[in-house]
Amino acid sequence: MTISRSENMRRIRSRDTAPELTVRRALRESGFSGYRLHRRDLPGNPDIVFIGRKKAIFVHGCFWHGHTCPEGLRKPKSNVDYWLPKIQGNRDRDENAIHQLHAAGWSVLGLWECEIEDGSWMRTALKEFMQG
Ligand SMILES: [Zn+2]
Repeated sequence: MTISRSENMRRIRSRDTAPELTVRRALRESGFSGYRLHRRDLPGNPDIVFIGRKKAIFVHGCFWHGHTCPEGLRKPKSNVDYWLPKIQGNRDRDENAIHQLHAAGWSVLGLWECEIEDGSWMRTALKEFMQG
């Protein structure tokens, strides 16, 4: 893998994706504002961070991060030798980041893209996480 490819992935990762915007809107509507975005000083650059509460939220794309749902289990049609290690690498990085955040006293919520599609489920999950 070349460096430029990995840099490109990082940019894709940090963009304001539609699922992320959906989560941010749900947080605001539930009264949880004051979050920060894409903190590069924290392990894994969490997508949404509440500094004072020490709560970090990751919004994972099902395909990119290898969720066990139909989208996540979909096999790439081409460049399999590139994508499968890439996806595994993302999973390893996710796990490592969560581990490091926990060790530093953070609570972490990982949301999958497919879960976010169920708005009421997501709102409940966010409330439980923020109040927990
Ligand atoms: Zn999924």
